Amino acid sequence: MIELKDICKIYGKKNTEVSALEHINLSVPNGGFLAIMGPSGSGKSTLMNILGCLDRPTSGQYFLNGIDVSTLNADRAAELRNQYIGFIFQSFLLLPKLTVYENIELPMLYANVPPEIRRKTVLELAELVGLEHRLQHIPCELSGGQCQRVAIARSLVNHPKLILADEPTGNLDSKTSLDIIQTIGRLNKRGVTVVLITHEQEIANAAKRIIRIKDGKIMEEEQYAAV
Ligand code: ADP
Ligand code: ADP
Repeated sequence: MIELKDICKIYGKKNTEVSALEHINLSVPNGGFLAIMGPSGSGKSTLMNILGCLDRPTSGQYFLNGIDVSTLNADRAAELRNQYIGFIFQSFLLLPKLTVYENIELPMLYANVPPEIRRKTVLELAELVGLEHRLQHIPCELSGGQCQRVAIARSLVNHPKLILADEPTGNLDSKTSLDIIQTIGRLNKRGVTVVLITHEQEIANAAKRIIRIKDGKIMEEEQYAAV
């Protein structure tokens, strides 16, 4: 699914260069679940942006499902992103005036999905994340964990094969965090490939494999038996 070959990322111009990633080699198979840990400033967001086709490496190659993303123009990269990838963020990025139903539905409105399919998909995904009884509520009426579950449902509407989750439990208490990571784990068991950034070891432990990044380099790896 994901293959990174000798990826380097340098920000800025001569004299003010910041080397954010150095010679990253990494692959994640279909159905894999990778957690990335590392201190602030180590390059995690940069790596996530590259994986999400939101940014390009300075050098090296990124293959997503066999496609060399590094060679695509911005439009093709956006197409690939919409086709393959769902994003989950620390801040849930829900629209405050829209109901749970409408927040989940929104990406399908943009994609011109027919109304009947939109409706069926919203109901299915709301049930998957356990929010079928909250469809007519707006975000401020929900707990943080419920908001994140709305965001997870929304990330799934285009049936992504890859979920990129950047500190998805960063704003949640530890009990809710475990609940959210279990929801993400359930998606992975259904065959969705997951890459997760987290500061929390307990959250990372849900992954099948953990890597640590420091100063833009992969420092050590822990291989877990599939759970
Ligand atoms: P986190 O530690 O939660 O990943 P950061 O503060 O490192 O968050 O980065 C948040 C966003 O700001 C990232 O998307 C990153 O690309 C951007 N960013 C980080 N450092 C800089 C910088 N020195 N100049 C410009 N943008 C930056
Ligand atoms: P993390 O997500 O692990 O906190 P980042 O990937 O955000 O780390 O940042 C890695 C390094 O790259 C940091 O030194 C950061 O300041 C720098 N950086 C990130 N984004 C930018 C940017 N847009 N411009 C310049 N430097 C950046």
